[in-house]
Amino acid sequence: MKKLALHWQIILGMVFGVIFAYVLIQFDWGKLFISNWIKPFGTIFINSLKLIAVPLILASLIKGVSDLKDISKLSKMGGRTIGIYILTTVLAVSIGLVIVNLIKPGNFITEEIRTELLGNYTAEANLKIADAEKQNQSSPLQALEDIVPSNIISAAADNGNMLQVIFFAIFFGIAMILIPEEKSRPVKAFFDSFNDVILKMIDLIMLAAPFGVFALLAALVAEAPSLDLFKALGMYGLTVLIGLALVMMVYLLLVKVFAKKSPSFFIKGISPAQLLAFSTSSSAATLPLTMERTVENLGVDDEVASFVLPIGATINMDGTSLYQAVAAVFIAQAFGMELSLGVQLGIIVTATLASIGSAAVPGAGMVMLVIVLAQAGIPEAGLALIFAIDRPLDMCRTTINVTGDAAVSMIVAKSVNKLA
Ligand code: ASP
Repeated sequence: MKKLALHWQIILGMVFGVIFAYVLIQFDWGKLFISNWIKPFGTIFINSLKLIAVPLILASLIKGVSDLKDISKLSKMGGRTIGIYILTTVLAVSIGLVIVNLIKPGNFITEEIRTELLGNYTAEANLKIADAEKQNQSSPLQALEDIVPSNIISAAADNGNMLQVIFFAIFFGIAMILIPEEKSRPVKAFFDSFNDVILKMIDLIMLAAPFGVFALLAALVAEAPSLDLFKALGMYGLTVLIGLALVMMVYLLLVKVFAKKSPSFFIKGISPAQLLAFSTSSSAATLPLTMERTVENLGVDDEVASFVLPIGATINMDGTSLYQAVAAVFIAQAFGMELSLGVQLGIIVTATLASIGSAAVPGAGMVMLVIVLAQAGIPEAGLALIFAIDRPLDMCRTTINVTGDAAVSMIVAKSVNKLA
């Protein structure tokens, strides 16, 4: 029997998960059954992907950097990668600002809805605000300080701290280039084969993908808020979705113009990773599959993918930055505030930085949104307004985050003649 392509397997898992949950929640015991007996399998699936993320980043970056064999090649590729990442993020925030000012979704929030939403979610909103404030009470150079770990084991143990692992891996790889080849050879051979083992582990985990996403989607449907809230926040959700769709088109265009590949080739290659991003809401959990698809289906050389993608999963979140800009202006509109052009330009800077600082895990973009709100003088309590539909939007923005990383890896690969 011919094996079904991975994206179809994942789509089927998702569809069955939704149908299964929808049928079960019609019974009194349905929700409890799903959370006790189905959801844990989704959690196990996400955990196994996250488990792979740290060793994958370590092995692939060390291999990627040491394969480059000279520092000038590394700085050329590094400069391009970071430059394009920042450009796409700024572009995404700008798209978000333009459409939220055109659509004005905040004007659809009546006094009544606002009071209801603020009442419903204040406790959770306060928790996120406290989380964000912890990150915000720091010196201007804090972000830089945070990149350098004082202990690699504790950096690797802290899930949100991929940037520190990346720092260590690049530093290690550079040192490998700088010592004589006969000395670095055994270490290189070790990381090469370590990398192969990790890639095999990813293949094995992917066998469970349809079942994993089945469980994840079923749990999401069982925990979804009431439809009324969805309707009240419909315009806001739609604004974010339109923005994300526009960013997607920008990627297709960039891939066509700079990597000379057709949109259908790109989508076909990356769609399983997009679907996984949608199901898990985590760029870090999706990274193993993003790497595999980019190398095997999009023709990006291993050397480029193993450098560009782990960094992208951690710092390049165009979907998140767009969402943060739209959400901030939406909250201001819902509170009847006018934001001056200067404040909106400020949002371009803060949303770009906040998305870079967001961890690649579910809901992280919302925590960092607090910082954007604080800088723009928008009430932080407004977070309660957007709580109800954050998860579905997180699923969509994570899909764009992952797509952006893959698109940039193709562009960088093309620019250094490493795209098949
Ligand atoms: N969930 C997103 C990601 O992992 C981050 C966010 O919350 O926006 O890419």
